Amino acid sequence: MDHEKRKKSVSLISGGLDSALATKLILDQGIEVTGIHFTSLFASRRDKERGLQAVRTAEELGIRLITIDKGPEYIDLIKNPRYGYGKNMNPCIDCRIFMLQKAKAVMEQEEAGFVVTGEVLGQRPMSQQRNTIHLIEKRSGLAGLIVRPLSAKLFPPSEPETTGIVNRELLLGVSGRSRAVQQELVNEYHLKAYSSPGGGCLLTDPIFSNKLRELFHDDKDCTVKDIQLLTFGRHFRLGRGTKLVVGRNQKENEALEALWEPTYTLISPADFKGPRGIIKGCHDGDALTTAAAILAFYGKYDAPEIMLEIYDGERTTARFVRTDVDVEGLRI
Ligand code: SF4
Repeated sequence: MDHEKRKKSVSLISGGLDSALATKLILDQGIEVTGIHFTSLFASRRDKERGLQAVRTAEELGIRLITIDKGPEYIDLIKNPRYGYGKNMNPCIDCRIFMLQKAKAVMEQEEAGFVVTGEVLGQRPMSQQRNTIHLIEKRSGLAGLIVRPLSAKLFPPSEPETTGIVNRELLLGVSGRSRAVQQELVNEYHLKAYSSPGGGCLLTDPIFSNKLRELFHDDKDCTVKDIQLLTFGRHFRLGRGTKLVVGRNQKENEALEALWEPTYTLISPADFKGPRGIIKGCHDGDALTTAAAILAFYGKYDAPEIMLEIYDGERTTARFVRTDVDVEGLRI
């Protein structure tokens, strides 16, 4: 490690307690830190709040924060994770490798010498066990260059610790899920800008994961918009390659309209009050007849005929004879 890189690092800032503390422990050694925060299509509402918190954490610690979106390449990773999924569609090991590879690129760009993480040994079932931490470090190309201030004493010394750039004696040996030690430190440091622990991204959510699995199964080339659609409304499979999403409230109806793109057909009730829907895929007579019946079902509309306004780039209206549809049976 050359002289200039001695006192520079990059640190993964989640917005949570552990990464704030880990960064503080490094800053207190007089080492410069640039924060990195990751966002993605799969951020849960809680993750988004943590994103705002990450900005506040960086401000409180007085460091610069770089925000990186995981981007479309992350979707390919989720489709086919080398190290598999956790309980749901969360490929935590591959995801950690991915983030650390990005952090490595920033480290090099910033001419920093190492990466800091708030990892705590044994805190998470999938990605924070000793053998997986080791695997992730190796696969990220950062072997020996990750400093984990909260659990450092439970690992062999990293390169910055061996060379004395980081004083290992001032690092901790915390393990497990209890955050008692971290809480004490937060009080001691008077840190306020962090969010409470818990939660994961949408990929850890069973309902979202079911929809995503079904989407990947049906449409291998699904787009970012198709995935965004999974976070809104009720979803119905109308046939291979054809799907209907129905808004659950006014806000979702508006969101569906905003998400429209030329591969989608937007449908709305023309002669009754009811939800809006988006069809992806084939929107021939059969698909539209079924979709009309589903909109009428949620609009509590009993008439034998249903008028829809249809927008597929051009706006038209059409009338459909109501058919019997097993609404729950079609639900994804
Ligand atoms: S919970 Fe989500 S963001 Fe966190 S490591 Fe797992 S896949 Fe990645």
